[in-house]
Amino acid sequence: MHIVVPIKQTPDTTATLTVDASGRISWGDAPLIVNPWDEFAIEESLRLKEKFGGKVTVITMGPESAKEALKQAVAMGCDEAILLHDPAFEGSDTVVTATILAAAIRKLGAVDLVFMGKESVDGNSAQVPPALARRLGWPLLAYVGKIREIDPAGRTIVVERILEEGRQVVRAPLPAVLSAMQMNEPRYPSFMGIRKAARMQIPVWTAADLGLTPEQVGAAASAARWPSVFAPPKQEIQCEFIQGESPEEIARILVDRLLAEKVL
Ligand SMILES: Cc1cc2nc3c(=O)[nH]c(=O)nc-3n(C[C@H](O)[C@H](O)[C@H](O)COP(=O)(O)OP(=O)(O)OC[C@H]3O[C@@H](n4cnc5c(N)ncnc54)[C@H](O)[C@@H]3O)c2cc1C
Repeated sequence: MHIVVPIKQTPDTTATLTVDASGRISWGDAPLIVNPWDEFAIEESLRLKEKFGGKVTVITMGPESAKEALKQAVAMGCDEAILLHDPAFEGSDTVVTATILAAAIRKLGAVDLVFMGKESVDGNSAQVPPALARRLGWPLLAYVGKIREIDPAGRTIVVERILEEGRQVVRAPLPAVLSAMQMNEPRYPSFMGIRKAARMQIPVWTAADLGLTPEQVGAAASAARWPSVFAPPKQEIQCEFIQGESPEEIARILVDRLLAEKVL
């Protein structure tokens, strides 16, 4: 099986976003990591490779520094890595991001499965997986919590999707696009993997390599715009610890206070 895992390099989940008066967004000096949801997709893809053979290719659209995220995926066990980078990609919205990823996946040739994270922890739109499936014309199985079975010869996959109401079992033909929920315990990079990643020359594919014109990518092609970005107004919160001789008394004072504030 050939599995492609598109990953995004994101700020650490503990990072705080700030917006200054001119609308400039910053994550400060937060370390950059592989989007945590993508780690579940990497782990599951590696397990499928171990079971069925084949290879796992990891791709990302991002700046040169995103090679570090690709190297972490290689250190975990992915076989090949490709960076999609071109100044023309700047300003791409989620649909254009999907266009670029789809072009790269087509260029890779025979692919059985695309495995993504359910969303990024910075953009948080969860739009890229459905947009990518649409671009490729493949079925989308989003929010996958478990792969029940894969039949590479019969070209079918059966998964459990995690919904608010419960779980849904879905069967689809391959190739398909999957997005991962928390479905496993991602492995740590191995020593051999780290050495392989350190030596690896990661190819960089530009818009021209993907057969895309400058008009098809970046801000020029993107319908979504960010006309203004601002921080939400600060909320003034006063905290009061209710004191009392007993839990009953504290509860009575709390109820009186909630009634007085018209909360109850
Ligand atoms: C108007 C506008 C301008 C923007 N300009 C820029 C810009 O200049 N530079 C910039 O970096 N971003 C820019 N973005 C954000 C960028 O387009 C989104 O971050 C990107 O499309 C992914 O969306 P998301 O983070 O919501 O991902 P989600 O849809 O939440 O991510 C779901 C999954 O998709 C995959 N995925 C997401 N992004 C990538 C990626 N880049 N490569 C590979 N796989 C991926 C991962 O598997 C991820 O788990 C812009 C967005 C808008 C709307």
